[in-house]
Amino acid sequence: MTREQAESRASALRELIEHHNYLYYMLDQPEISDAEYDQLFNELRAIEEQYPELLTPDSPTLRVGAPPLDAFPEHRHLQGMLSLDNAFSEEELTAFDQRIKRFLGLPLETALDYICELKIDGLAVSLTYENGALTTGATRGDGERGENITPNLKTIKQIPLRLKGGEGLFDQPPPTIEIRGEVYFTRLEFERVNQEREAQGEPLFANPRNAAAGSLRQLDSRITARRALKIWVYGAGYYEQVTFENQWALLQRLKAWGFPVNPYIQRVRGIEAVWDYCQAWDSKRAELPYEIDGVVVKVNDFALQRDLGATQRAPRWAIAYKYPAEQVKTKILRVVWQVGRTGVLTPVAEMEPVESRGVIISRATLHNEDEIQRKGLMVGDTVIVQRAGEVIPEVVSVVLEARDGSQTPVEIPTRCPVCGSEVEREADQAAIRCLNLACPAQITERIRHFTSRNAMNVEGFGDKWVARLFEQGYLTDPADLYTLHEHKDALIALDRSGEKLVNNLLNAIEKSKQNPLERVIFGLGIPQVGENAARLLADHFGSVEALMNASEEQLLKVQGVGPGTAREIAQFFEREENQRVIEKLKQAGVRMEAEQSTSRSDKLAGKTFVFTGELQRCPRETAEALIRQHGGRATGSVSKATSFVVAGPGAGSKLQKAKDLGVPIIDEDTFFAMLEEE
Ligand code: NAD
Repeated sequence: MTREQAESRASALRELIEHHNYLYYMLDQPEISDAEYDQLFNELRAIEEQYPELLTPDSPTLRVGAPPLDAFPEHRHLQGMLSLDNAFSEEELTAFDQRIKRFLGLPLETALDYICELKIDGLAVSLTYENGALTTGATRGDGERGENITPNLKTIKQIPLRLKGGEGLFDQPPPTIEIRGEVYFTRLEFERVNQEREAQGEPLFANPRNAAAGSLRQLDSRITARRALKIWVYGAGYYEQVTFENQWALLQRLKAWGFPVNPYIQRVRGIEAVWDYCQAWDSKRAELPYEIDGVVVKVNDFALQRDLGATQRAPRWAIAYKYPAEQVKTKILRVVWQVGRTGVLTPVAEMEPVESRGVIISRATLHNEDEIQRKGLMVGDTVIVQRAGEVIPEVVSVVLEARDGSQTPVEIPTRCPVCGSEVEREADQAAIRCLNLACPAQITERIRHFTSRNAMNVEGFGDKWVARLFEQGYLTDPADLYTLHEHKDALIALDRSGEKLVNNLLNAIEKSKQNPLERVIFGLGIPQVGENAARLLADHFGSVEALMNASEEQLLKVQGVGPGTAREIAQFFEREENQRVIEKLKQAGVRMEAEQSTSRSDKLAGKTFVFTGELQRCPRETAEALIRQHGGRATGSVSKATSFVVAGPGAGSKLQKAKDLGVPIIDEDTFFAMLEEE
């Protein structure tokens, strides 16, 4: 490669890596596998090593993660949270060991003490304890500034709210200590959450790490609480008045303080023993109830760690050995198109079953038509399949040499495979949609969604009931649920279900009428409106009626609703079919308004508030809803027009801006006192 070629390749790679960083760190929705990403990253690093003058100060090879999202208060780490350098082979591990000894001026045959830790596929967090009590929990962010997600982290029961003291631990807890660990999903929980998302027509999480990130970075802690997140703790950042000689001693202390420390961490001597550990876990890792993507190797001795120090992006005393993504070959037997509740047709490859790390793979999603074209897939093709992030199978490529002329192109449907009506592909979208709202697949999926746990939560109303009652003509839309009591005898006769069971079911249906507004909005199944958006919309509009009448412009004023979602919402309510369902729900007595009347007073009329930092009494969304209910406005950024900035612990740049602009700053108590004033 000439220098010119290297220069243009480096700049193309930087752009590409930034794009994938954005999808991965900001949206938690990566488009490529970690292995593919690592290849791009290593290619860029190799170029920058060969031509150091091409290294730019903003190169992704010098940076950690991504800046924190504005939606959360910013948290400044007292000690930076770095990334880790990677090794992909025994040679690279050996090179790491040699580098360290050269750096320290030690004889190359020295056998160093290493700690081998499983590299948990989750999200790094930092927990700050002051005088033994948990005060803040934050994400890594860009290494210096993370997102303050304390309420969400507090939903993880394994995280002690106080450090255990007592015998030999401490009389006085350290005044300040930052504890570092990894929040993760078990395989089972990851699958459960993804199944739930699939049923609700939401995009699936690509791997447990994105799932953990997506769950922790929720504005509504109740959503986080519904997911059984777990944590392994493996280190400390800044600390005072305690000392540790080495990583091993630190881990023992963390355990004694009450943190979960992974039981498979081992202390070994020499890099050969490290390699043995990595290999041993490569064959055993399928048995773990959670995913690991490698092994983190750390120099045990803290004095040596200090001497070694860190580069801008990673410590010199640690490395992550990464397991290769296992790829297997199989054959595509057919491609089927599944119809979801919004009518989107998703192609799924059915393949000859093949085993990958103890799991049988026989289906893989092909995402959409563009993906099929991009990969050039044909039915009958031999393909390379891998479990992306070790979980969801994906087709990586076609083995062209295996083509024998018997392959046939994937048929792109022009009609819905379920109802036979015409399908449409909008110019700016990858998805093909069945436009027939009366399509049986769409109807049953919509009803299933409406009754699901996070929507109307009709207990005992499973898929079988939906399918059967639809077939019998008792259910044609979600609102028909509330007329089922008129057919009680028929229900009892169906499948000899028994009176008691049917009674329970009818009671559950009746009870669901009292669900809060946000569940009804979520249950309607408006494309792109997940639980979070439904809550924001319920808080903002206070009734289905107001939401229905909102223009796209008004919808855009809801924090967290983008142009795409606003358009989907408006289009949803324009459809007569949907208006009819809403009318039926109203007639049936389903609650269509928020519990408290939306407008309580106008005591905050004309006032604009901005929150920064943490609130202790309620989530920020709730406080913002209160402001609206009292006639005021809540916005996201401070300007001269802001009446008050409400600042709590962990307040960030908005506080500074308020000071600079001379905007009055009040605390949470003062804010609530304002609401209570007569
Ligand atoms: P990393 O995942 O390679 O290593 C650092 C991280 O390891 C830590 O932040 C921590 O979260 C984790 N970790 C797990 N166990 C640990 C332990 N015992 N001790 C210390 N840390 C432990 O680096 P990164 O900076 O977090 O992320 C970069 C990686 O993310 C890439 O290599 C790639 O695999 C992935 N990525 C993928 C995409 C994509 O589009 N697919 C985009 C960006 C990044």
